[in-house]
Order: sequence, then C-alpha cells, then structure tokens
Amino acid sequence: MATRRRYRRLVTVPTRPPSVDSLVRTLTGVGLPHPLLVASARRAVGEGNPDQARHYAEETARRLLQPVVNATGVLLHTNLGRAPLGSATHPGPVNLEFDLDHGRRGRRGGGVEELLCALTGAEAALVVNNGAAAVLLALSTLAAGRPVVVSRGELVEIGGGFRIPDVMAQSGARLVEVGTTNRTHRRDYEEAVRDRGAALVLKVHPSNYQVVGFTAAATVGELASLGPPLMADLGSGLLDESTPWLRGGPPAWLAGEPGARQTLEHGADLVSFSGDKLLGGPQAGVLLGRAELVGRCARQPLARALRPGGLVLGALQATLLAYLDRDPARIPLWRMATTELPELQARADRLVGQVGPPAQVVASTSTTGAGSLPGGRIASVAVGLPGDHRRSLRRHHPPVIATAAGGQTRCDLRSVDPADDEVLAAALKAAVAEGAAGCR
Ligand SMILES: *Cc1c(COP(=O)(O)O)cnc(C)c1O
Repeated sequence: MATRRRYRRLVTVPTRPPSVDSLVRTLTGVGLPHPLLVASARRAVGEGNPDQARHYAEETARRLLQPVVNATGVLLHTNLGRAPLGSATHPGPVNLEFDLDHGRRGRRGGGVEELLCALTGAEAALVVNNGAAAVLLALSTLAAGRPVVVSRGELVEIGGGFRIPDVMAQSGARLVEVGTTNRTHRRDYEEAVRDRGAALVLKVHPSNYQVVGFTAAATVGELASLGPPLMADLGSGLLDESTPWLRGGPPAWLAGEPGARQTLEHGADLVSFSGDKLLGGPQAGVLLGRAELVGRCARQPLARALRPGGLVLGALQATLLAYLDRDPARIPLWRMATTELPELQARADRLVGQVGPPAQVVASTSTTGAGSLPGGRIASVAVGLPGDHRRSLRRHHPPVIATAAGGQTRCDLRSVDPADDEVLAAALKAAVAEGAAGCR
C-alpha cells in the first residue's frame, strides 16, 4: 500500500491545481461560512494536496462548540462543559442591573443572591465567574499581604491549573502550612494562629482525591473558634446535605460530601464553590457567608473584573428556582444522578434491539466527575460493542463521546439524555457498519 502511494506520487505529472474557487464549491456541505471554506481550500492547494481541503474544513467544523452526547458515564465531564444545562435563558433585554421597583440602576445578581441565601441560610452571597475566581477574590480581599493558615493535606491541585498555593500567591496572601500530608489537628492551626497571626483560616475540601489510612483532619466546627475568620472552599457546591429537593432524601453515594448550609451552620464564616459541579448549574463561582465579609469582597475592584454576565446569572437563577420548587427533573445533573436502574436497563434493551448484534447490554458504573466526590460511584447500565469504536462515534453528527476498556466500547446511559437515545442508536449502527466494512 505504502509503496503504491509513493509510486503514484512519483509519476503524477504536476498538472494545474484546481482553482480555490472550484474547490470551495465542493465543500458547501461542511456547513461553514464561506471565508473558512476558502481558508481550508487555500491551505490544501498551498500544500499541493487539494484532496485535503475537505479534511481541513471538517477539522475546523469539529473545533467549533457543538452539542455532543456524553456517553462516558461521567455526569460532570470537565471536557464536556461539566453540568449540562436544562434551560435556555431569555434572549432579549433583561433587568440585569435595573431596579424595576424604582426605575433606576439596580444591583447585578441581587435576585440570584437572594435565592442562594434562601437555599443555604447564608446571610449574604456573591456570584463570580468560577470557583477559582471566588477563592482568589476572597483571599485577595480578606488576606492580601497577610498569613492564611492551610493544612498540608489540603494544598490541592484541581484540574486545569488551579493550585491552592498558586492562587494564594496570586492573591498576595501568605501561605502558612500546618500539619502533615495525612494528619492535621486543631492544635496545629492554633499554634500557627498564635505564633504567626492570621488573617484567615482556609479549609479546602479534597474534592478530587482521598487521603486514606492513618489520617486526621480538623473539622469546620473545631476551626470555627480559632479567632480569624474561617473560609471553607467546598468546590462541589452541594447546597444542603439533606437534599430537600430529592423526595427520597440523600442518595448513598453522596455520603460525606459537605453541604454549604451545614458548613455555615458548623461555624464557617465564608464558603466558596463552583456553579457547574454538584450544583448542576452554569460555570460560576459562589461566595456565601457573613454579610460583612461577602460585602467586602463585593466592593473590591477585582470583583468587577470577575463579575458574571446575564447569560450565566439567568442560567444560575433557573437552576436555583428548580431547587426551591423541589423539582430535580429541571436540573439535568440530579435527573441523571437519580434515574433508577430499571429505567436505564429498559433504555439499554431498546437500544440493543435497534442496533442489533453485536451490541449488548452491560453493567456499568457512573461517577459524578469534575473533581467532586472522589469515591462516589453510581451503578449504571451501558450499551457495549466489541472493539474500539470511539473515533467513529466522535465523527457522528452530533458526536457521541464513549469510553473503551478491555477491547470493548461502552456507552453509559446514565449520562445520556433519553432524548438523545435515537442519536445514540444511529451512531452505534453506523459504527457497527463501519467496523464491518473495515473487516472486509
Ligand atoms: C473545582 C474546585 C475549584 C475551582 O473551581 P472552578 O469552578 O473550576 O474554577 C476550587 N476549589 C475546589 C476545592 C474545587 O473542587
């Protein structure tokens, strides 16, 4: 094969390359604006390989944001936008910073912050662009140039370059490490507070790893009385451990995950978390807690640089209203996480029937993902295909993202919206057909 191709290149007489225009006309089906098709055609012609034009155009199209089917079983997939959103926000003008009562300028995010307080019992709330921004804003407001005490077991790195020591350095706060990797006690904090003075005690929830074995960590309750304000970076954004929005109460896999409401009740002065992890909303960061501390953060110039837009606030508001209505069906994360196994089993049976052999129903395990609940596993059901068909599934329209292990491709149904089962069936059928053609 390789020899033949080389030979063909050698004997190809350099004829006139097709014009860029005529090449572009063959690419209209790719569905990109004309200038992008021209760029692909030019690149291919310039490289003396006009046949590549379609490939380049399709590559460009695949880099654009588009809906995908998440069949990985990771409910909050960091590379797939974490929490899927249920509702679109209003496309026209909104009262983002307009006080409808008095007809004058209002405070951005004020309504959403009230909802957060209603759900968690916090005195005050502030919404910023992501969890990292919430931590940065709090540290730089409350502790710039001053010591912040953190346990050595909690100097975490979250994916995407968020490292507590680096954020601390960026904020201007001085990191004071206490305890050891596996064990930190209240007295370790106590000594550091006494000897070094501290503007803040920071407790970071180890959201993407577990320290097991001979371990000890001081609780929020134990640290609340040390003197300096206590901030807990929860990361995941579980609003309330008692999950009043779920009729059956908290599911077993949620055990041990700290809720914002309980962390405040146990004495934290400030908590921070992401909007798109266990909260199940858009990318955002939330600071909750004592009005005086939250207010100082809100008045800092940096808050202006980190403020969210109307799209984010609209999506967050829709999510929070669903919590208050106790309607988890409107929050895709909770809908996925609490789907009963028999329902997944029935969907898998139906899909396997549609796709035909060699598709089969296999037991699977979902995880919440996105650096939340490191040990949390939820039983699930997948459709399996022998062989690795991930590439074929990714090239389907819309793309399907699956996993492969042990010589089998798996499409976990817990992370797939049932409305996408038809897409999944078509993509699996195409993958089976392509596989069969490849074997011939
Ligand atoms: C995820 C996480 C962050 C960062 O939040 P982003 O929304 O990703 O910026 C910070 N701290 C903890 C403990 C986290 O789990």
